[in-house]
Amino acid sequence: MKKVVIAGGGTAGWMAAAFLATRLGRNLEITLIESEQIGTVGVGEATIPPIQLFNKAVGIKENDFLKHTKGTFKLGIQFQNWGRVGDSYMHAFGSTGHNLGMTPFHHYYLRARQEGMEENLWDYSFNDLAANAGKFAPIDKIEGSPLAGLVHAYHFDAGLYARYLRTLAEGRGVRRVEGKIASVAQDNETGFLRSLTLEDGTTIEGDFFVDCTGFRSLLLGDKLGVDFEDFAHMLPCDRAIAVQSENVAPLRPYTQSIAHAAGWQWRIPLQHRTGNGHVFSSAYMSEDEATSILLGNLEGKPVTEPRTIKFRTGRRQVFWEKNCLAVGLSSGFLEPLESTSIHLIQSAIVRLAKMFPTRGVSEAVVREHNRQAIAEFDYITDFIVLHYHLNQRGDSEFWRYCAAMEVPERLKRKIDLFKEDGFLLREDDELFTEGSWLHVLLGQNAVPKGYGALADDISSKELTDFMTNLRTIMNGAVKRLPTHEAYISRFCASS
Ligand SMILES: Cc1cc2nc3c(=O)[nH]c(=O)nc-3n(C[C@H](O)[C@H](O)[C@H](O)COP(=O)(O)OP(=O)(O)OC[C@H]3O[C@@H](n4cnc5c(N)ncnc54)[C@H](O)[C@@H]3O)c2cc1C
Repeated sequence: MKKVVIAGGGTAGWMAAAFLATRLGRNLEITLIESEQIGTVGVGEATIPPIQLFNKAVGIKENDFLKHTKGTFKLGIQFQNWGRVGDSYMHAFGSTGHNLGMTPFHHYYLRARQEGMEENLWDYSFNDLAANAGKFAPIDKIEGSPLAGLVHAYHFDAGLYARYLRTLAEGRGVRRVEGKIASVAQDNETGFLRSLTLEDGTTIEGDFFVDCTGFRSLLLGDKLGVDFEDFAHMLPCDRAIAVQSENVAPLRPYTQSIAHAAGWQWRIPLQHRTGNGHVFSSAYMSEDEATSILLGNLEGKPVTEPRTIKFRTGRRQVFWEKNCLAVGLSSGFLEPLESTSIHLIQSAIVRLAKMFPTRGVSEAVVREHNRQAIAEFDYITDFIVLHYHLNQRGDSEFWRYCAAMEVPERLKRKIDLFKEDGFLLREDDELFTEGSWLHVLLGQNAVPKGYGALADDISSKELTDFMTNLRTIMNGAVKRLPTHEAYISRFCASS
């Protein structure tokens, strides 16, 4: 397998091109086809921390990347109105508190609460404290302590990111072809894809095809006929209105997610503007109403016209079929509540590179790739559904539906375990850690009856001293950090 053809040049296409060219380029000839006339989905600007690994693997330097994509740092996502109207909590990246031996920190926290101490979990999240103070610097550890530093991801301009990756990929030998794919040819006997023909008649042959054609899913869905499994029954939102607005100072180092009557609104701060969108369910709200809620909740003046993006949540039954792997929106979509789509692109490409079918496609490899990819997608789905399901709003039909809807058995099990004695369960290397589950479960008012027995291994006095010590160290460290804006203007400001 030598000739790789990537169909589509959005974030998925260019991430695939950059990664494959960097890591496997010595043995591959890579061609990417994209159509300016069709364009890209044009959203997708908030990420999660593993993107740092991707950037490192393709040799991207953080400050240069942020300069070119007008990016900012992200320490977590603030959720407003999700549990009840008026609630606010942060799903902050990184650890919370400090585990002692085998006992996870949150059991000490639950014990302290039970013993009547005035405790707020987020006072022990360094990421949350820094985010709320508008501070940032990339520090791995809090100096003079065993405590971890800040864990970050990025916000960036999606169009500029694709352009940045394109320059990098073309510099590493990727051939870009402009044009609209008009037809796809298959081998009569095996059904393997053989070539793509453009509207101008050009034919591009390949051994392996990466379908990055977005929601169209031209190769995997249309040509190979892999069915779509719809998740609308547990993720009822199916539209987004997106608009960009002027920035209002100061630059937040976190994304905001503000729940409204039939969905939620994102705010993503970039260096030069803020990305906003209202994700909603068309079964519960009209487009006009959704637009007016969005425009009424912008912090700065809009700088673009609002545009509507329709979507279906769910995934293809398999992501790899014959000699074609779908990556990005062509493989499925989960709404952007936890900024996971770009991460799913990254893990699909890394998985492909690790198991690249150099000697030809084998059933065993395809089966394992699909097993891992589907498990990853479905675990992430559970986490996103958790936000909707665990609400006590009751103020609209939409939220009442979400609270009452059937959710996967795996998710029920996790909620029940947590409500018992705060037990958290991370299965099969799933993406979101116990810490992420903890923030959303507690943030949306799931209250455990007790705490893990191991947390009784210290005295009450030791517990108070431990908690006080942690707060002192973290608050001191936050004071010493520069503001997010100061850090950006010093190290990564776009010209
Ligand atoms: C409302 C919304 C908000 C989102 N927010 C986030 C977020 O904050 N974080 C996150 O991680 N993800 C987010 N996403 C997802 C993210 O936008 C996508 O995962 C990402 O942009 C990748 O898209 P893509 O490359 O798969 O598809 P696209 O950007 O649609 O690209 C498809 C490519 O295929 C090409 N193409 C299609 N048909 C043809 C043809 N016939 N011939 C030639 N070329 C063709 C197009 O020209 C284009 O280059 C969001 C998505 C939506 C809908």
